[in-house]
Amino acid sequence: MHKVYNWQLNRTMEYKYPETRPDKQVTWLFDTNKCIACQTCTVACKNAWTAGKGQEAMFWNNVETKPWGFYPLGWDIRLLEKLGSQNWDRNKYLGKTIFETAPYGEEMLGFMPDAEDYLHPNIGEDEVSSAINQGDYLKMVHQPWMFYLQRICNHCTYPACVAACPRKSIYKRKEDGIVLIDQARCRGYQECVRGCPYKKSFFRDYTGKSEKCISCYPTVEQGNQTQCVVNCIGKIRLFGFKNNWQNPREDNPFDYLIYFKKIALPLYPQFGLEPNVYYIPPINVPGQFNKQLFGPGAETAVQLYREAYKDKYLIAVLMLMGCTDKIIHRFDVKGDIETGYAIGYDEKGAEIIRVPIKEPIIIRNKYDEQKDVYRISVS
Ligand code: SF4
Ligand code: SF4
Repeated sequence: MHKVYNWQLNRTMEYKYPETRPDKQVTWLFDTNKCIACQTCTVACKNAWTAGKGQEAMFWNNVETKPWGFYPLGWDIRLLEKLGSQNWDRNKYLGKTIFETAPYGEEMLGFMPDAEDYLHPNIGEDEVSSAINQGDYLKMVHQPWMFYLQRICNHCTYPACVAACPRKSIYKRKEDGIVLIDQARCRGYQECVRGCPYKKSFFRDYTGKSEKCISCYPTVEQGNQTQCVVNCIGKIRLFGFKNNWQNPREDNPFDYLIYFKKIALPLYPQFGLEPNVYYIPPINVPGQFNKQLFGPGAETAVQLYREAYKDKYLIAVLMLMGCTDKIIHRFDVKGDIETGYAIGYDEKGAEIIRVPIKEPIIIRNKYDEQKDVYRISVS
């Protein structure tokens, strides 16, 4: 075991390999508050990568309704129960990670789901946290709550799948931090399936090998965002690259939301993998639940999101989500919050997108002179 620094835990921790960070790191931002659980992302990913034989129950992207949704069944609560106390002292994690609680002779605390656990990917969808009795009515903020959690491989900085693989078949690319399984080396031992706490490495019995999200690398290499992002109906997603926690740039949209505003947070940072998918936490969920999922910064992030309409830079980045297929490397804001624009630039500094910070409301006349018809709003 080596001592490595995990900035999400604010401390060093144990990991199988020495600390190495890629030149740049693939990163996703998901705004949980805007998701409508349409599953378009899930279908887009499935059509692109997992439509073959033996991949029927394999979803590299899934969207589950918390608190009752799981894919595979119970993936997180089964591990959380084993992990023990998960306390924080402000931003420092006092509990143990899955690497620090590894049973004797194993690389990390893990478990193997059963085949049946993958058969109901929509379990719990749209189910709220508690029963609604006859005669109940919704109060704001309503007591029975739920939210949609979008899940893909986190292309972790300290991947459990990499540490688990006895064949060294899994590797993290130096140029962009994408984690891949070498299909030629894999022998299907499934240690990555057991070890990944997010359960985002899957065994394909048709080939006898494991597979996982490849971060759509053929399209990323062309400067485009991933399939789950460009097909998102709710425009809740943004894909690109973040910088190291030690040298963030304020004009990088990922660094801005993660390091400067601290509004986008990792999922279960206490597992210790330094995951690279960042979530804006849901605002109508009990604080303790949010804290368990997204760490001690969740409450501040929720407050910031509620006030986001006052902050033109924050709103500007949120408006850049889902507005272009191209990867945005830098952003800028021109004008004020009422009439200004958010602008996205590519790697070479060329403008690729310009969107209004505040979407204009256009009220058209009921009478259309050109067509000589009345248009009646039925809404
Ligand atoms: S989420 Fe799981 S499969 Fe993906 S890099 Fe991390 S440990 Fe590996
Ligand atoms: S496509 Fe977007 S809005 Fe629809 S389920 Fe996926 S993340 Fe949510």
